[in-house]
Amino acid sequence: MRYTGAVCKLCRREQNKLFLKGDKCQVKCTLDKRPMPPGAARPQRGKPSAFSVRLREKQKLRRLVSMAEKPFERMVTQASQSPEASGDHLLRALELRLDNVVRRMGLATSLKQARQLVRHGHIKVGGKRIGIPSYGIQAGDVISLEPKYRGNVGIKLSLETAKRLNQRPSYMTFDEAEFAAKIVRLPERAEMSFPVNEQLIIEYYSK
Ligand code: SF4
Repeated sequence: MRYTGAVCKLCRREQNKLFLKGDKCQVKCTLDKRPMPPGAARPQRGKPSAFSVRLREKQKLRRLVSMAEKPFERMVTQASQSPEASGDHLLRALELRLDNVVRRMGLATSLKQARQLVRHGHIKVGGKRIGIPSYGIQAGDVISLEPKYRGNVGIKLSLETAKRLNQRPSYMTFDEAEFAAKIVRLPERAEMSFPVNEQLIIEYYSK
């Protein structure tokens, strides 16, 4: 089931800044004010079990990519069947989901905004409108914004932020005049936006 509650609670639960509110997280972060997990009076003490460490790492990634458990588990299963390292395969597939690519292009500052752009039909892949956030992008694909949406104030602000923070990964080139990015090659681990230990996640599902 899709989580519709306060997203800051998810960061507090994972005891990590997941930047789920995009730009707003840079200004004021709830985790700085309330560092304890929801429902706890103080930060947790004691050594967590091996299971708990793996569970929390899995939940952290699942929340970063905002996916429900079932589709996330399906992606892990597919990654486990891949001939390459399972963790690499999983993270690359998540990095190249259309919603994440739109965010990394700088058209949105959060995954939620990026997903909305895709769902509302403002994004094209290879000149064809694609409304599926989980659509898998390949090397060589060109992702662009619908021309009629280029004057949108929110998009302009997001692009300014991306430029200021120099956040675009080097596996893509961005054409500012066309509001379009080309994926020039597959991303490497260091270029992916997931600060997790993927091995722990694979181990969690292989129990
Ligand atoms: Fe997480 Fe952002 Fe909320 Fe901070 S402000 S707790 S990083 S969603």
